[in-house]
Amino acid sequence: MTSAGEAIQKMQRKVQVTKPAKAAGLATGQCLCGKVSFEIDVPARWAWHDHSAASRRAHGAAYATYVGSWRKRFRITGGDLEIARYEDKTTKTVRSFCARCGTPISYERARSPHMVNIPRALFSGRTGRQPLYHIAIEELQEWAYTGEPLVPLKGFPGVVWQRSKRKKRPDHEGMF
Ligand SMILES: [Zn+2]
Repeated sequence: MTSAGEAIQKMQRKVQVTKPAKAAGLATGQCLCGKVSFEIDVPARWAWHDHSAASRRAHGAAYATYVGSWRKRFRITGGDLEIARYEDKTTKTVRSFCARCGTPISYERARSPHMVNIPRALFSGRTGRQPLYHIAIEELQEWAYTGEPLVPLKGFPGVVWQRSKRKKRPDHEGMF
């Protein structure tokens, strides 16, 4: 069990004794190709950034941002036959994704059967929760963007960059 897993479990244990707030509306989302679509009742239970290696790899991204929903408030509204599942027997987690385009759809933990965690990026609107929490922050990658000041890159409209601290200007030719 990773420390990230323990933190999620602790949060989810807390949820299981908490009654969901009355639903105030819907948040909808979809995968990249649009085959898989879903909705949750909002507000969601919570949202957080997950910096663990497992989620980083599963998303192919610096970190994953999740929205946690009660399972009974989560509904697949299209493309359920397109959904493939990857079960990690060691951590007892299941990650579902669109078999057509590869988009991660959900992340479920056997020990928290009432919760479904959905990538925040898939939702087109608000979910009623800001991602205020970070799990496994000690695994934040040194290459992840964390809000450093950016300036326009001369000669490349639309491209900004974090000015290199080195004196010699790097060669940007052919980068974009
Ligand atoms: Zn898809």
